Formats: sequence, structure tokens, C-alpha cells
Amino acid sequence: MQYEIDYIPVGSGEKGGDAIAIRYGDFSSPTTQNVIVIDGGTKDSGKKLVEHIKTYYNTTYLDVVIASHLHSDHISGLTEVLENFTVGKLVVHAPWDHTPAIKKMTKTTSTIGLLQTKLEKSVSGLSELIDIATSKNIAIQNPFQGEHIIQGQLAVLGPSKDYYLELLANFGITPEAKEQHKVGGLLSSVSKSIVNWVAEALHIETLSDDYSDTDSENNSSLVLLLALDMGNNVVHRFLFTGDAGKGALTKVIEYCDGQNYSLEGIDFFDVPHHGSKRNVGPSILNRIKPKVAFISCPPNGDPKHPSRKVVNALIRRGCAVHKNHQGNTINHNSGNVPARVSWSTITPASFHDQVEE
Ligand SMILES: [Zn+2]
Ligand SMILES: [Zn+2]
Repeated sequence: MQYEIDYIPVGSGEKGGDAIAIRYGDFSSPTTQNVIVIDGGTKDSGKKLVEHIKTYYNTTYLDVVIASHLHSDHISGLTEVLENFTVGKLVVHAPWDHTPAIKKMTKTTSTIGLLQTKLEKSVSGLSELIDIATSKNIAIQNPFQGEHIIQGQLAVLGPSKDYYLELLANFGITPEAKEQHKVGGLLSSVSKSIVNWVAEALHIETLSDDYSDTDSENNSSLVLLLALDMGNNVVHRFLFTGDAGKGALTKVIEYCDGQNYSLEGIDFFDVPHHGSKRNVGPSILNRIKPKVAFISCPPNGDPKHPSRKVVNALIRRGCAVHKNHQGNTINHNSGNVPARVSWSTITPASFHDQVEE
């Protein structure tokens, strides 16, 4: 078994996104490998992602293209991906697939038909993606918790359908939720005030479970577990999280507990939401304790994307943290993969003695 995971840089300034390419299997031929794309970032990063796959993956076929959630910094570039490759299937959740449920949970007086049209127009990037898939006869899957995207290898740990519907009623694009369907802990606007720095030592943690959670759209992100059989009873496990927040990840851990499945010590952790401190706290990280973490973040995101507290919290738990803030693509692989000319080894992020308050 060979594998490699590439994080293509997305965005500029303080704005980032996600664009991730993965391939695994036997790389000696395009027919013996699986290729997965999770999110395509902006149009620009989508183009880079296409080039990257053509250059390094030796294929024009993608098994699965996944849109983690509807935010444009994750899905805009996927149109490039769908247009440039032959694609096995598109994995995506469209809010308008659940219009009758949305009507029930919100205060809208619109008809179902009108509401559906409004929703489709409000997330044009997502509609465009589904239109391209439909016109190219690409299968579309909308999987929830417990379902597999690639049987036995790529599974959905979240969201469950019930949780997704609850979040939907609280999306910015849906009408105001009825009181009984409102979810708490929504992100209040984060002030852009001057950062106050505080000291943090290896044995002191200032990251807290109490920061308010990220928004419902982010919490609706698909949380995916890739498990690869490396032979000799060794399985390598990779967790991809999109922009999932504490609400979503807590439900993922509860689901795993119910299955007597532990995520602790996973080999690779895709840190959610560009490393924001509103998406993971100590309780969640204590249940994951990854070996390696990748953060997709913008060039000038520090100290919000990623939060220095989150980077420190991962390092404190024995994790090697890597980020693509320098506009470079970063790669994680199984070791037995083709060498790439002029690529160099990256060193993990170092511990921050000063963190944002
Ligand atoms: Zn994002
Ligand atoms: Zn998002």
C-alpha cells in the first residue's frame, strides 16, 4: 500500500480555504490506485489542484470528489476539478434536498417550491457543482454518519441525518428557525481588535472548551475516516474534518464510543476550520491525540487561522503539526512513493511561547 496526501494552498491575506488531494493503492498504474479530492478551495486553488493531480498522480480519473460543506472557500475550485477530470462520484449535501424538513422547522410562509428555488439561488456555487455533475452523468452521493463512500476504506463519521437537519434550520440561508429547533452556541462576530499576547508553557494549556462554537454551516461539514490496510495487521487512519466545530466533533466521538471505536492515536488529523480555536478544545483533542496534523491556512492568518493555542495543544499531545501558510503545497506520504524533483522535507511547526489571549 502506498499513499500520499497533498494540501494545496488556498487564498491570500487572512482568507484561506481547503483543497486536498489524496491517492492510495499501488501507484504503478492509474488503474490500481484510488484518487480522492476533498474540497477545491477558490477557483485559483482549484486550477492549482488540477495541475497538481495531472503532474503528480499520473491519472485523469478521480474516484471521488467531496464537498465538505457549502462554503465557497471550500467548493468554488471544485468546478475546475469536475470539468477537467473523469469523476466516479460527487459527494455533497445540498440544503434544498431537505426543503420540506426546512419548511417544518422554520418560520417561513413560503411554499416548498419557492423555498427550494430560493435556497438553490442562495448557494449558487453548490448549484453549479451539482449542475456540472448532472450534465456529465457523475453519480451524486449524500451520505450520513455510518455510511461508506468507498466500502471498507472511506467512511462518514458525521454528521448524522438528524444533526444535519437541526443545523440546516440554523443556516444563514434558511428562514429563522422555530424556537424548538434553534441551536445554541453560535459564533458571535469575532472582533478584529489588536491581539493581546499571553505566555504559554509546555505544561500550561490556555486553549479552552468554553470558546463559543463555530457556525451551523461549518458544523455540517462531512467528517471522514480513511483507513488503509498497510499489511502485517497495521492500519493507517486519517481523519478529515472540513470546518466541523466542537458540536459536530463531539457527536463524532460519541458515535465512535457507541461503536466501541477509538480515534485515539490516529495517524493523520486534518485540523478543522484552518486551525481555529472555536473548533477544537482540550476535551476533543484528548480523544484524538493524532500523530501528524495538517492545517490548511492562509498566509496571514496568524494567530487566528491557525490559532497558536491549537498548534500548541497538538504539539503538547505529541503531534507533529504542519501548515501551508507559505503558499506551498505540503505532502504527507507512506514513504514508499515516487520522489518529487526539487521538493524538500518540511519541519514541524514549533511551540509558541506567546499565544493570542
Ligand atoms: Zn473553511
Ligand atoms: Zn466553512
